[in-house]
Amino acid sequence: MELTRELVRRAPKVLLHDHLDGGLRPGTVLDLAARAGHALPAGTEAELAAWFHEAADSGSLERYLETFQHTVGVMQSAEAITRVARECVEDLAADGVVYAEVRYAPEQHVEQGLSLDDVIAAVAEGFAQGMDAARTPAGERIVVRQLLTAMRHQARSMEIAELAVAWRDRGVAGFDIAGAEAGYPPTRHLDAFEYLQRENAHFTIHAGEAFGLPSIWQALQWCGADRLGHGVRIVDDIEVADDGTVTLGRLAAYVRDKRIPLELCPASNVQTGAATSIAEHPIGLLTRLRFRVTVNTDNRLMSRTSMTDEMWSLVEAFGYGLDDLRWFTVNAMKSAFLPFDERIALIDGVVKPGYAAL
Ligand SMILES: [Zn+2]
Repeated sequence: MELTRELVRRAPKVLLHDHLDGGLRPGTVLDLAARAGHALPAGTEAELAAWFHEAADSGSLERYLETFQHTVGVMQSAEAITRVARECVEDLAADGVVYAEVRYAPEQHVEQGLSLDDVIAAVAEGFAQGMDAARTPAGERIVVRQLLTAMRHQARSMEIAELAVAWRDRGVAGFDIAGAEAGYPPTRHLDAFEYLQRENAHFTIHAGEAFGLPSIWQALQWCGADRLGHGVRIVDDIEVADDGTVTLGRLAAYVRDKRIPLELCPASNVQTGAATSIAEHPIGLLTRLRFRVTVNTDNRLMSRTSMTDEMWSLVEAFGYGLDDLRWFTVNAMKSAFLPFDERIALIDGVVKPGYAAL
């Protein structure tokens, strides 16, 4: 059977690294901005979509992060946040995603008086509405959980970590830190990570995207991260000789031995310059070496991408087949911050039968 883009869309997919404020529909940004009196750099849906993509395409992580001033800017009321969260679930369901962990930083949505708890409740409401709306008559559904992100240049990580624990039985699966890596090592938030470990809570850390091995090493060996947000620069610790012989450094060997999940985001990496093209993206090597590779979107609006697009670009660049896509998907499901029995239920009850039916 020939693999088509439509077949990839129908295949069950699992997404661990997606930013709520990076996945708005351009039309929704326009609509919410008009209501909130927020000025935008473009006036039509097409122009705005192009503006986001171009700004994100500039090759600099700092410029990339600038685009979030507008998405975060229009997400300052509970209604706006709930709408964005609901549409996020609808868009992921239409894309064939069966399980997703979607992250955002509550502290960025309190400019107009919402409390951090209000923000989390608004996202929870939107996710619940979206999951209800996506339920098919046959009982198929999408499961979506929140990850609470703290901004690495700010000083609220402990507070956000406490909220992740307080909300863990109400749709919050874990914690993350994000933002420009340079100058803000994860060890700056050590108290938050140590607190989460004492609480038996899960967390991932954005590390090894623009910045190299020290950032990955700190995230794992100082902070105790369960997963690496990106982690793509782990290839700096892998040597491929001219004759094809591969030698892993101690950190790369540790990551592979311990099955540490890598939340790889190919399209985003190409945009920020962390990789030159999909074909040259380290995901090819890391997959060949059987690291715990997962495929993710990062920011669907800025990168004009989807899980189907990400998977399809890998099919085109590396010739992957359905077996490979299923491997990425099972890897992601195994690495989710969902309880073990729920992960197994999704793998055996949804992912494997879904691929078998294609
Ligand atoms: Zn990210």
